[in-house]
Amino acid sequence: MSTNASPLVLVTGGTGYVAAHAIAQLLDAGYRVRTTVRSPKADLPDVEVVQADLSADDGWAAAHHGVQYVLHTASPFPPGSPKHDDDVIAPAVGGTLRVLAAARAAGVERVVLTSSFAAVGYGAIPQSRYTEDDWTDPGDPNTAYIRSKAIAERAAWDDVAAHGGPELSVINPVGIFGPPLNSRVNSSVGIVKAMLDGQMPFALPTRFGVVDVRDVADLHLRAMTSPAAAGRRYLAVSGETISFLDLATMLRDHFGDAAANVPTVELTEAEVRANPALRDALTQLGRRPVISADRARTELGWQPRPVRTTIVETAEALLKAHNEAWT
Ligand code: NAP
Repeated sequence: MSTNASPLVLVTGGTGYVAAHAIAQLLDAGYRVRTTVRSPKADLPDVEVVQADLSADDGWAAAHHGVQYVLHTASPFPPGSPKHDDDVIAPAVGGTLRVLAAARAAGVERVVLTSSFAAVGYGAIPQSRYTEDDWTDPGDPNTAYIRSKAIAERAAWDDVAAHGGPELSVINPVGIFGPPLNSRVNSSVGIVKAMLDGQMPFALPTRFGVVDVRDVADLHLRAMTSPAAAGRRYLAVSGETISFLDLATMLRDHFGDAAANVPTVELTEAEVRANPALRDALTQLGRRPVISADRARTELGWQPRPVRTTIVETAEALLKAHNEAWT
């Protein structure tokens, strides 16, 4: 239960998948919460809402007034390639710098930035193991989204190094899954939905890390107040990487007939190379990295749930929403 004396936390992008969980956990913990949205139509009970777009200055000063901590989750995360790379990169980078400038002007204590494994592990030369010491070079041949996360996070660290406070802490999640709290199907949950709906007839022969959205939100809250987290970045990953076929197999094993449409065939690497529509997957072929969350576990006491639990509970939520829509 929050009171007028409870610290005020600004969560940017309140309509988002991660933001919804962060807001719920902050309210549970007794914080007051304000959020930014870019559409005035967003319906978000229990929180104060300010309109602000990452691409424009309006609203950001008001959003930060009286705020102690900021969780900057908002960033464009399109399911496919944008028409122009800057449709994604410019708001991601400009928005991050706008948030930091407004936070500095308002005397905010700490900003927790939702970056991504995209800013860590997509360098041109594959590594067998990734830690927070690793960086994706924005010049490497990656998708606009991956570059947007690498450039925005780099810009954030450079900005606080050049201009001082607020304290900065960064979370670098791998693929985020887990039950959505609203009807939005974001890009990562959309993968599970596409599999269940039979819209992914073949599995790509690539691997990715999984982390639960509830654990990502929890890690943001830990990084927000832990003295150890100032000036640190934290990889958020639960266990080993999985392939698309592993994901499909988990769904089929658990849900049987309800998962009858998931893919059973994995494309070969040669088939991916021969298909221009799959060019975004090329840089991921043959990679089987170990991604370490040791820092979050040891410094912040973070304990993510198992991958299988996350995948099963994602699908349960999607199937429940689907069944409710039909009754
Ligand atoms: P999401 O549900 O698509 O949320 C993205 C949020 O950003 C939405 O609130 C969206 O607002 C907002 N946004 C996008 N462009 C904006 C703009 N120009 N101005 C203002 N707000 C804008 O995605 P998510 O999964 O929660 O992602 C949250 C954060 O986690 C992002 O920074 C993403 O890069 C990062 N991340 C996600 C994953 C994953 O697998 N999901 C993995 C690693 C990192 P609208 O509702 O108006 O579109």
